[in-house]
Amino acid sequence: MATQRILDFLAKARPEGPCLVVDLDVVRRNYETFTRTLPETNIFYAVKANPAPEILRLLVELGSSFDTASVAEIQMALDAGATPDRISYGNTIKKERDIARAFEFGVRLFAVDSVAEVEKIARAAPGSRVFCRVLTDGAGAEWPLSRKFGCSRDMAVGVMERAQALGLEAFGLSFHVGSQQPDTSAWDRALADASRTFKALARKKIRLSMVNLGGGFPTRYLKDVPSVDEYAQAIFGALRRHFGNRIPETIIEPGRAMVGDAGVIKTEVVLISRKSERDPVRWVYLDIGKFGGLAETMDEAIRYPIRTPRDGGAVAPCVIAGPTCDSMDVLYEKVTYPLPISLEIGDELLIEATGAYTTTYSSVAFNGFPPLQAYVI
Ligand SMILES: *Cc1c(COP(=O)(O)O)cnc(C)c1O
Repeated sequence: MATQRILDFLAKARPEGPCLVVDLDVVRRNYETFTRTLPETNIFYAVKANPAPEILRLLVELGSSFDTASVAEIQMALDAGATPDRISYGNTIKKERDIARAFEFGVRLFAVDSVAEVEKIARAAPGSRVFCRVLTDGAGAEWPLSRKFGCSRDMAVGVMERAQALGLEAFGLSFHVGSQQPDTSAWDRALADASRTFKALARKKIRLSMVNLGGGFPTRYLKDVPSVDEYAQAIFGALRRHFGNRIPETIIEPGRAMVGDAGVIKTEVVLISRKSERDPVRWVYLDIGKFGGLAETMDEAIRYPIRTPRDGGAVAPCVIAGPTCDSMDVLYEKVTYPLPISLEIGDELLIEATGAYTTTYSSVAFNGFPPLQAYVI
């Protein structure tokens, strides 16, 4: 949300054009909430959510580890001061030469979801630890993750057997219950599955020691979400139910929940118009849209809170769109967005809870619009 520090920064610096401002105090608070409520769990920040060097440096200082998806993200974590033993190469889709590169950097923890990937790792990163990503249905998530990553429970057994046979350490399992997951019981289903796979592998004398609980922890947008405490209780309840007194080492990989509410985008109203004289719905065009970093409005999935300088007065429904010449560049139309009737061209709006998945999603220069500028304070 817009903290006083962010408001003061915007008032003083008056940056030109759309920009994201991230308050590091909020990131620190989010990290501390995770460590306080999940003290036994190792935190691997999902770098893709926001890889700003200031954020990575703060998290290094606080003791975080890092979930990365590419050599470039590994490099960013290293540049921020993370040692390679605190970096996981968590993408299940990696070129063999990128695996070799990560291995040279000292990374020894890799995600897999297929035998072919295990074979690459055995060749390019011998002796490393691997964890197998298992499919989950992602039901209930506001930004679900489809079937792109993970394999079935049965297949995970074969993948881990192959890993062990090739001299890798069959270390654990991972799953991701879908991003922005408001249902705390989603981890229960996934952990029930995980414990069955642990047992199936134990019967083959392969003893896994880690469960990677993934991300999915939400940011508060317009609707209330459960607290981290409620997630922690649901997760530990599920671990006890399914693993009894042999609870494995656990990892979480929060992205959105670490940085989402730490950032605010300042934007300007470029045009307010209607499609016909009598149309009750105004079209409000901003200087930022889907290509400027708000890609998570795809299918109107993520609905950001928007503050205007005219809040408090009467509101009426609006379609909100971006400034580019692509007709896809509409943020909210199926479900219109109420904005003040007195809103005017030139007004500055604050799009809140935009610290995650914005700067990295913004295009390089579609229509000549520069990538989203970010200030980390
Ligand atoms: C994107 C991603 C995350 C972060 O997910 P959030 O829902 O933003 O917390 C964690 N783990 C993996 C493997 C991811 O791909």
